[in-house]
Amino acid sequence: MHYWLGVDFGTSGARAIAINPEAAIVAQTQCSLDTQQPTLWQTALWTLLDALPPTITANLVAIAINGTSSTLLFCDERGVPLSDPLLYNDDRGKEVLEEVRAIAPSQPVVGSATSSFAKLLWWEQTIRPKVAQPSDAPIYLMHQADWLSFLLHGAIGISDYHNALKLGYDVGTLRYPDWLVDSPARPSNPATALTKRCVRASKVVLPQVRVPGEAIAPLRPALAQRFGIAETCKICAGTTDSIAAFLASGARSPGDAVTSLGSTLALKLLSNVRVDEARYGLYSHRLGKLWLVGGASNTGGAVLRQFFDAAELEHLSQRIDPQKISPFTYYPLTRPGERFPINDPHLEPQLEPRPEDPAEFLHGILEAIARIESLGYQRLQELGATPLRQVYTAGGGAQNEPWMVMRSRCLQVPVCRSPQTEAAYGTAWLAQNGVIW
Ligand code: ADP
Repeated sequence: MHYWLGVDFGTSGARAIAINPEAAIVAQTQCSLDTQQPTLWQTALWTLLDALPPTITANLVAIAINGTSSTLLFCDERGVPLSDPLLYNDDRGKEVLEEVRAIAPSQPVVGSATSSFAKLLWWEQTIRPKVAQPSDAPIYLMHQADWLSFLLHGAIGISDYHNALKLGYDVGTLRYPDWLVDSPARPSNPATALTKRCVRASKVVLPQVRVPGEAIAPLRPALAQRFGIAETCKICAGTTDSIAAFLASGARSPGDAVTSLGSTLALKLLSNVRVDEARYGLYSHRLGKLWLVGGASNTGGAVLRQFFDAAELEHLSQRIDPQKISPFTYYPLTRPGERFPINDPHLEPQLEPRPEDPAEFLHGILEAIARIESLGYQRLQELGATPLRQVYTAGGGAQNEPWMVMRSRCLQVPVCRSPQTEAAYGTAWLAQNGVIW
C-alpha cells in the first residue's frame, strides 16, 4: 500500500493527514502551537511524524507542507534563523509601505503592509543591520512552508508559486519581475536611485520557485531512519493554508467554487481566466493552466455573533422556510466599510427595520449574506472569470442546512458542504496528485 502525507501549519496548531491511493484518510495527527517560533515549528513537525503509525510511515510516497501565507523568516545557508519569524499578520511593513508602492506600483498583492515583499524590505532596513552575519554571507528568505520542507529535504532556498505570490513573483510569466530583482533588498543594479539609498553589502537570496506539489528531493536519510519513513519518500513543494483548504473541498473543475462562511465571507472560484482587480482586493493564484480567483467581503458570521449565540443560530434557523424570500434588504457589517463585491470604504451596515420575531430577523441576515455571496460571484464573472457551476461550503456557517437551501436559491447552482475542509487533507492531495490542471 502507498500513502501520501499533508502537513498543515496554522495559526494555533499543526496537523498531519495521510491518505491512501483512493484519497481516503488513513491517519491523522495534530498538536497545538502556543507560540510561533521556528524551534517550536520543528518540534511540532517531529511530534506529528512521531505520532504516525509505522505501517503508514514505512509506505509514504511523498510529503508536502502548507504554511500560513506570508509567514516567513530569514536564515543563513544552514537554515539557522537569523531573527524571529515575521508572522502572517505582522504589519510592521507599513513603515516602508510608501517605498514598497514606489518599487511595485501596480502590484496590489505586494502593496499591503503584511505582504512578504513589505516584510522583506522592512527586515532589510530594520533588523538586518543588527544581525551578526558576515556581510558576504548569503541570507535566505524562507516562507514557513519552505523552511519546514527544507528541514525534511535539506535543500535551502526553495519555495512554490503560491507562497511566492505575495513576495512579488510573477505567476503569469513564472519569473521574478525586474522591479523585484533590482529592488533595494536585492541591489543587483547599483545604478538605480532606490538601490543607492539602501546600499548594503548583503543580498537576500530570493527562493527558487517550484510548482506546488512538484517533488523537490527525497527525505534526508537520517530522518527517514529516525521516523521509520520509506527512504524513497519525496518531499514536494508546498502551498499556503487557504489554497490547501480549497484543494481539500473537492472543487476540481473550472466554475467550481468554495465559499467560506467564517467570521467574514470569502469566495474562491476556479477559473480559466485570471482576474486581478485592485479596487475590489481581488487577485488570482495560479493552478497549472487555471486560476484560483479569490475575493473577501466584510459581511459574514461575525455579524450573526453580535445578535445570536450558537444555540439560537441552530434552533432559530430550523424555524426559517428557506424557499421564502425575506422581505428585508439588509447589508450586514460589524462596522462601516466594504471592499468586495461593493467597493465603498464608507458603506454603512444596514440592519433595519428589525422584526419582533428573532427567526425573521435571522432569516433577513442570512438572506442578505446569501445575496452578497451571489453578487460576489456575479462580479467575478463580469470581470471575466468562468461562470459558476457549483459551490462547496466551508467554515462555521457550513453546518446551517436552511442557509444552504437559501444560498442555492440565490446562486442558482447546487450548493453543498465541502466533504473535507482540513488544509492538511488538501496538502496530502497535492502531494499525491500535484497540480493536475
Ligand atoms: P473564523 O475561523 O473565520 O473565525 P469559523 O469558520 O470558525 O470562523 O466560523 C465561525 C462563524 O460561523 C461564526 O461567526 C458564526 O456566526 C458562524 N456560525 C456558527 N454556527 C452557525 C450556524 N449554525 N449558522 C450560521 N452561522 C454559524
